[in-house]
Amino acid sequence: MPRPLLRSSATRREFLGAALAGPAILTGCAKPDDWRQRVEGRWIGDNSVLGHRVRDARDAAAHPPAGARERRCDVLVVGSGIGGLSAARSLQRAGITDFAVLELEDEPGGNSRGHAMQGLRCPIGAHYLPLPGPQAGDIQDWLVEIGLAKSTASGLKWDERHLCHSPQERLFIDGRWQDGMLPLVPRDSATQAQYRLLAKLVADMGRLGFALPTARGPWTSAHAALDAVPAARWVREQGLRDPLLLAYLDYCCRDDYGAGIATVSAWALVHYFASRHGFSAPGDDANDRDPVLTWPDGNAPLAQALRQPCADRVHTGRAVFRVDEGLGGVEAWAFAGDEVEHWTAKHVIMATPLFIAARVLRAPPAALVAAAGAQRRAPWMVANLRLDALPLDRVGAPLSWDNAIHGSPSLGYVDAQHQNLAPVVGPRLLTAYWAFPDSDRKRLLQMSWQDATQLIVDDLRAVHPDLGERLQQVDIVRHGHAMAIPTPGLRSSAALAAVPASAPRVSFAHADLSAYSVFEEAFTRGEDAGRRVARALLGR
Ligand SMILES: Cc1cc2nc3c(=O)[nH]c(=O)nc-3n(C[C@H](O)[C@H](O)[C@H](O)COP(=O)(O)OP(=O)(O)OC[C@H]3O[C@@H](n4cnc5c(N)ncnc54)[C@H](O)[C@@H]3O)c2cc1C
Repeated sequence: MPRPLLRSSATRREFLGAALAGPAILTGCAKPDDWRQRVEGRWIGDNSVLGHRVRDARDAAAHPPAGARERRCDVLVVGSGIGGLSAARSLQRAGITDFAVLELEDEPGGNSRGHAMQGLRCPIGAHYLPLPGPQAGDIQDWLVEIGLAKSTASGLKWDERHLCHSPQERLFIDGRWQDGMLPLVPRDSATQAQYRLLAKLVADMGRLGFALPTARGPWTSAHAALDAVPAARWVREQGLRDPLLLAYLDYCCRDDYGAGIATVSAWALVHYFASRHGFSAPGDDANDRDPVLTWPDGNAPLAQALRQPCADRVHTGRAVFRVDEGLGGVEAWAFAGDEVEHWTAKHVIMATPLFIAARVLRAPPAALVAAAGAQRRAPWMVANLRLDALPLDRVGAPLSWDNAIHGSPSLGYVDAQHQNLAPVVGPRLLTAYWAFPDSDRKRLLQMSWQDATQLIVDDLRAVHPDLGERLQQVDIVRHGHAMAIPTPGLRSSAALAAVPASAPRVSFAHADLSAYSVFEEAFTRGEDAGRRVARALLGR
């Protein structure tokens, strides 16, 4: 089997660096693109003005303005991502109804918000939830509660409309599309032998116990040893050297953690497989993967379902810039348009990323400062491309829900209309995903939407040659600090473990507490924080 050629001899890092460097390099090698004259585009979904007001609010935080509007409640939740909304649900279930949720953006949901372009729904962040396993009993119960599954004598029966329809994934490699993300190779090849070695390693390591959410699983010295080394080093030491396998592992980590195997820990790599479907060499096992739950607008329906029972207590457009823990309670100040609100509460749940909690808390606990300082965060870009029709396609496997290109610096794209039950005619909506090295954050934030679009068009043109001609509208979001990267040592850091109990009247509810970000982690951190606060306030 000939080795596939990468489309470019540049490394991913060089490619991104050149692309981000500016339009001269971007357009230097590309054909003239007429889309630049025709296409409507914009950055959306990130209220960076309000966000940066929080960052720059040192004066306001040191001397909160007099005349702020007075508000009070028993529990104030700051942030309405999955963690904050789950904390609110947990409070409500425990009998605490006097709470408020303050959210900086105009829409709740954080990284799980959705969007629409001319009536077509699409994601701007999270786009699927794997079927939760037995360790995620809380999540299973909630999915039953909101009607996505039924409890039957033989187990959970899922609502098939929301299970990802077939075909689920395809990879462009060697000039054609193949089914699935793992490069397919002859069964007697050296690569297949490496796949089998990985399958054995994952099965062996899996015996240590890997749970999703992580808080429901064991943490032993063997987990900590895995967490101490970079994934790239660990795979090398295990004898995994095949370029096709390494490219696949790198893709998996970039897709889930926003950074590749050189950056994440070996624990994160093993956890990726062992906490979910395991790993088996193609053709060796009848191990069909469970489908995932997905919607046209990604996980937005999950955020909406969490929000719905407490919708009247979620206040958007509120940027909290100072939180003061006192002896009798907590005070918080928030920008709300031109006003400032002054909230007094018995308890605050910080459901923001940890670095923001460390910034707005007047006296942040030492553990929080240390944990936030140790977290590197992956910047992401998610671009929704509205096309006037399906673009030309290469030969091989048909358009799937998730479509990736071997050797590309991007993570490919998702077909936002994949779950349609009727055949799709007319405009199409594709959602392209990119995770950038954290060293490129500033340049990403300074990029024009045109240059970002050029980057995407140049990448996807390899598989859809007329993409530029089909393009009508582009709505792009950049998440400058999207998610914590599970770098070596982060998950096992004593500071991170100490954060939840580090302040008497301030709790924390964010996926950051798990050292990486997925729905299950955010939900569980919110659930646990809400339960603990309710117990403290109700005395039971
Ligand atoms: C591009 C992308 C794709 C992803 N894909 C998936 C996926 O397919 N499946 C999956 O399970 N996970 C995915 N994730 C991970 C996703 O982050 C989690 O699923 C989950 O949404 C995280 O929720 P959270 O509550 O921990 O954090 P966040 O979503 O970060 O929520 C924090 C909230 O706090 C608010 N906030 C911040 N500062 C303030 C302030 N000062 N005042 C008030 N509010 C404030 C923010 O606006 C935000 O709403 C993806 C993430 C990204 C970025």
